[in-house]
Amino acid sequence: MRILVTGGAGFLGSHLCERLLTEGHDVICLDNFFTGSKDNIIHLMDNHRFELVRHDIVEPILLEVDRIYNLACPASPVHYQYNPVKTLKTSVMGAINMLGMAKRVKARILQASTSEVYGDPQVHPQTEAYWGNVNPIGIRSCYDEGKRVAETLMMDYHRQNKVDIRLIRIFNTYGPRMAEHDGRVVSNFILQALRNEDITVYGDGSQTRSFCYVSDLVEGMCRMMECDDFTGPVNLGNPVENTILEFAEKIITITGSKSKVIFSPLPQDDPKQRRPDISLAGERLGWKPQVELDAGLARTAEYFAGRIGKG
Ligand code: NAD
Ligand code: UDP
Repeated sequence: MRILVTGGAGFLGSHLCERLLTEGHDVICLDNFFTGSKDNIIHLMDNHRFELVRHDIVEPILLEVDRIYNLACPASPVHYQYNPVKTLKTSVMGAINMLGMAKRVKARILQASTSEVYGDPQVHPQTEAYWGNVNPIGIRSCYDEGKRVAETLMMDYHRQNKVDIRLIRIFNTYGPRMAEHDGRVVSNFILQALRNEDITVYGDGSQTRSFCYVSDLVEGMCRMMECDDFTGPVNLGNPVENTILEFAEKIITITGSKSKVIFSPLPQDDPKQRRPDISLAGERLGWKPQVELDAGLARTAEYFAGRIGKG
């Protein structure tokens, strides 16, 4: 098949492009390089089935493809809050442009949505049936509401125009090729630990997250795309939940670091707890994560050590 991956030069997108090429597909990677980088895909450039298109998804584009993975959107709070209006345009206009393409060429389209559609959840763990608790006017809203609108657009194109859609809600995912300066907890803590700098826990560190290794996530994403008669939404993530403080201590141990934990103010609207209920993914896709947190973190630390010359 000919497969379009928007945001293909980003963290998740580059792993997905790699996987699709391995399966023998032709891959078009579309990216504006806002948070993605050529480093992430340089190893794919020599493959004659790989094509790179520098393009901003806010603008329409004409391509002929069989599948569209719509991943283009900055994902870390530091990046998506840098230009919130652009973040919203990317989610909303990007979804409209990609859905228009899917409709025109009768391609199947998968939208990368997020656990952020559940906001600061009052239901725990989060199932797909939960409608969420999102602040519509806060500093995270450009991302959360943009993704919620993208979900709405997907469902409406499906009902109104019979577009063949797939919706996944991705929970915190980590691994090699995360951007170094994206401010996310995994990259921040690992880099601080490797440099023996203070580990910056926001708030008292009692907030929880559940971290999924990138290869598991890509497997779930591909299974969902090729699953017939199931639009989703489906949660994809690792249900093993840790407090952020536990997570800091784990990273100090794994890296053998001399770092100490320090506490800084909690950002506005930071969700207090997050853990996916992945029963639906198990039933419909036969999917569950395989990589243990310690093993995934060790591989990620090795990657960052290489990046900063400590490998
Ligand atoms: P990332 O920032 O590494 O990748 C996003 C990619 O999209 C980058 O390559 C960026 O340059 C590109 N992009 C951004 N705006 C664009 C635009 N207007 N036009 C074209 N390209 C544009 O982030 P990621 O972690 O790889 O996330 C990929 C997708 O998965 C995003 O849609 C994100 O919302 C979603 N997601 C990720 C996570 C996670 O934990 N990583 C969790 C939930 C959802
Ligand atoms: N966090 C932290 N220190 C950091 C970066 C993040 O304590 O240096 C916390 C953050 O406040 C949040 C959690 O870690 O509670 C996950 O943050 P991230 O930005 O990685 O993802 P998200 O909040 O979008 O789940």
